[in-house]
Amino acid sequence: MAKVGVYVCHCGTNIAGVIDVEAVRAFAEALPEVVVARKDLFMCSDSGQELVKQDIREGLVDRVVVAACTPRTHEPIFRAAVESAGLNKYLFEMANIRDQDSWVHPDNPEQATEKAMKLLASAVGKASRLKPLEDKYVDVTQAALVIGGGVAGISSALELANMGYTTYLVEKEPSIGGIMAQLDKTFPTNDCSACILTPLMVDVGNHPNIKLMTYSEVEEVEGFIGNFTVKVRHKQSYIDWKKCTGCGDCAEVCVEQTKGRIPDEFNQGLSPRGAAYIHFPQAVPKKAVVDAANCISCKGHKFGQEPKISKKTGKPMIAPCQEACPADAIDRSQQFDPNGTIEEIKVGSIVVATGYQVMDKKWFKELAPDSPNVVTALQLERIISATGPSGGKLVRPSDQQKPKTITFVSCVGSRDENFHTYCSRVCCMYMIKQARLLKEKYPDLNINMHFIDVRAAGKEYDEYYTGARKMGINILKGKVGGLEVLPEDRLRVLAYDMEGAVPIEYESDLVVLATAIELPETAKKLAQATGLQFCGSHFYRELHPKLGPVETSVRGLFLAGCCQGPKDIPDTVSQAKGAAAVAAVPLAQGKVKIDPIISEVHAEKCSGCGICIPLCPYDAITFRMVADRPRAEIDMTACKGCGVCTTACPSAAIILHGYEEDQIYAQIAALTA
Ligand SMILES: Cc1cc2nc3c(=O)[nH]c(=O)nc-3n(C[C@H](O)[C@H](O)[C@H](O)COP(=O)(O)OP(=O)(O)OC[C@H]3O[C@@H](n4cnc5c(N)ncnc54)[C@H](O)[C@@H]3O)c2cc1C
Ligand code: SF4
Ligand code: SF4
Repeated sequence: MAKVGVYVCHCGTNIAGVIDVEAVRAFAEALPEVVVARKDLFMCSDSGQELVKQDIREGLVDRVVVAACTPRTHEPIFRAAVESAGLNKYLFEMANIRDQDSWVHPDNPEQATEKAMKLLASAVGKASRLKPLEDKYVDVTQAALVIGGGVAGISSALELANMGYTTYLVEKEPSIGGIMAQLDKTFPTNDCSACILTPLMVDVGNHPNIKLMTYSEVEEVEGFIGNFTVKVRHKQSYIDWKKCTGCGDCAEVCVEQTKGRIPDEFNQGLSPRGAAYIHFPQAVPKKAVVDAANCISCKGHKFGQEPKISKKTGKPMIAPCQEACPADAIDRSQQFDPNGTIEEIKVGSIVVATGYQVMDKKWFKELAPDSPNVVTALQLERIISATGPSGGKLVRPSDQQKPKTITFVSCVGSRDENFHTYCSRVCCMYMIKQARLLKEKYPDLNINMHFIDVRAAGKEYDEYYTGARKMGINILKGKVGGLEVLPEDRLRVLAYDMEGAVPIEYESDLVVLATAIELPETAKKLAQATGLQFCGSHFYRELHPKLGPVETSVRGLFLAGCCQGPKDIPDTVSQAKGAAAVAAVPLAQGKVKIDPIISEVHAEKCSGCGICIPLCPYDAITFRMVADRPRAEIDMTACKGCGVCTTACPSAAIILHGYEEDQIYAQIAALTA
């Protein structure tokens, strides 16, 4: 008979503040399978773990149950302790009497104590029937994938590549750079965004270990930590990138042909681009693409067709982009597949760094979204950037005149029950930055900033904010309720000044909305491909907010940057480097452990009915011929131990190790006793 040791944790007052720990311990001691029951203030502390280890070493116990907090964070700690004392680490079970008990029943200590006893008895019932299991190991593919080429993806890719690993960097746009490439200067140091980002982008482009895949997207991810197979779609660029020199001649002629109808995404729609275009001047790689959806096939020269012959001149009517290209990189008569091409790559770990988008102003009807003089903060970045549509001059979009009064509105769509309840974290700071840069350049500019409150909690951020006040920028506490459009595209600001406790109204030439940061539209597709989950605020969910901030519930998949939550560049880069470090761990180890808590088919019991095969959500089951008859077989690397097949098999041929029938029935019996 198994000798179960039970260890009940106070968890400070987390458990003991509600549950009568001594009563639970005494209850455990009386259970027939239990040989010893102890308690400790913090079971996970050195002294707590030592209690367990000593009982194992002395041969007192051969099964261990800890009644404490969550197995999600603490099971590995206790398993390691059990193993270090010489016991198979799978002869360990945990009862979660904190998250599932004391925390949910703080007002009902008596019943919480009773529930703790039941949870504990159930864990003891299972533990006494546990069997030793062995970890299995598989080799790791020595390569990493980074998805998203903003500053987060760039930083992770460079770290991994510098460690010597082949690193694929997949970016959906024609160039890497992300939103940082669109910024003018960056708080709190006001250094030029392009000046600090461009060298990193060039490093990525030249790094011998980085395989850069821009204008590409991840379609499918299969496999598991150490051995992922990823399908990457290279979108159709309609231009031969091997020949394209990035001169931009095609883009120049195309924008004339398309007559300003296609908004340039990089300039946030403030200027046009052609259907043939280069993403931005410092693009890496600097290659042109043709956006076929917007191509008007000038002179009737369609893709996949030879040019028509002009009746007038008798000469072929070649599209201007093809005619303009000095490198012969455009050949429209070629048969292009509009879907592009699929490439399959194999990697050991994956960093997701797909960033964010800023909310469109169209959602805020009360803030005159149709006025050209109401712009988002990202549009203002483009207006004041030297590479922007006005060459860095502050102008009103409606008439290209310099405004006299500019108004900033904070928290547009953030901290708002109607849109996003979370704080977008960077808006207060970037608005202050924009106001400071404008005041330095245009001292006579009248700047009004409306905040609910200012959040400046970073290194040297508060000093940066205080400096803005000293520069003569008007900082007002209170919300902007509405904007009215006046003649000549001026705007009336209707706001509330909380300090004076009065409503205020004034005219402004330009209004800047700090619209919320949110996940991009494409985030759901990537979540489906990878198995990533979303958290309440709709960003990708990390494994644990404190202890696993870059890990995810999918082993081998890590998060970096704003896709995990809004953050500024310093925090983005720190997280990206952290993600690279943990993503490198399986690569450095060379082998990864396969959890033995997975299902196995007993071939002699399998009738070959095949019911389990389509039910497995991970496609882990296939048929194998045994003595001319098909039998189900489970791929241990693909099985996630969900147990669906186990419950479905009519022949009871499948067992889920660690959750065998007698173990589960013992748990149920204890819970329902
Ligand atoms: C107006 C404004 C001003 C700011 N100013 C500052 C400042 O001065 N200082 C500061 O510290 N921070 C500032 N920030 C914050 C800064 O922009 C972010 O911290 C930073 O850009 C986050 O980088 P990222 O790589 O996580 O995301 P992103 O920059 O969004 O990069 C993500 C990349 O992933 C790509 N991608 C997305 N989905 C996919 C997919 N499915 N497959 C492949 N690729 C994909 C995107 O195209 C993009 O290139 C500002 C933000 C705004 C809105
Ligand atoms: S044919 Fe060439 S130049 Fe004309 S719209 Fe299309 S890409 Fe632009
Ligand atoms: S004209 Fe030719 S070489 Fe120049 S950017 Fe366009 S495709 Fe590339």
